[in-house]
Amino acid sequence: MVNISAIPAFQDNYIWLLTNNKQAVVVDPGQAAPVERVLAERELTLTSILITHHHHDHTGGVKPLLANWPDAKVYAPANRPLPAQNAIAVDEGDKVALPELGLEFEVMAVPGHTLDHIAYVEPDGIAGEPLSGEPLPGEPLLFCGDTLFSGGCGRLFEGTAAQMHHSLTRFAALPDNTRVYCAHEYTQSNLAFCHTVEKNNAELQKYLQKVAKLRQLGIPTLPSSIGLEKAINVFLRPHLDGVKATVQAHAGAELNENIEVFAALRRWKDDF
Ligand SMILES: [Zn+2]
Repeated sequence: MVNISAIPAFQDNYIWLLTNNKQAVVVDPGQAAPVERVLAERELTLTSILITHHHHDHTGGVKPLLANWPDAKVYAPANRPLPAQNAIAVDEGDKVALPELGLEFEVMAVPGHTLDHIAYVEPDGIAGEPLSGEPLPGEPLLFCGDTLFSGGCGRLFEGTAAQMHHSLTRFAALPDNTRVYCAHEYTQSNLAFCHTVEKNNAELQKYLQKVAKLRQLGIPTLPSSIGLEKAINVFLRPHLDGVKATVQAHAGAELNENIEVFAALRRWKDDF
């Protein structure tokens, strides 16, 4: 049975660890040391590494990990210098089969935060009998790096607001029960912004309280789900009249298209 857990790295990164029968796959290892520690503690063999984009806090651990695990396969975005010599370049529509986990991911090109950004989605989720913990069998899995956060989205370092809006719209079209594994614990500060934009969102208020409790206990707020993000994350809600009205008032301009509302939201958040 596949187990998925977060390895904290740097200040607020999560390196996601997927395991099955002592085999391990990590997503976006920005650092090697915390990964090596968990591999040793749990007597795991590192078989594959998935990379979502080229930023150092997502790739810095690849080379040192490969020095210890030379047989591990690395999957990374095609349109960048690869993070390792033997890395396998993947792009929109490619499949990444991980037989060690019994999973097959589909690659989505999701530019915006960076131009090379990709996400990995497993539409069928894990198989087998439910055990305690997450995810439940059959729930689709999404590893989205720095594109979608709980209550937020990535900064536009390389791409345009239109690209990011399109990428997020594609995520929003995934089933509501899709588990969303983001690469940073930004939830609490993101929700403060969402609450500024949507003061009367009851779902958001409920989630704010839940997240405050989790963070007090030092527990990750992730994974999230697409259904939850559609209900609370303003960056997935620029099409709603209430959001549009607030953003127009803040921007002091009439915004006609959803993309314009999204772009103004992203600029507002940058200064928040
Ligand atoms: Zn990044």
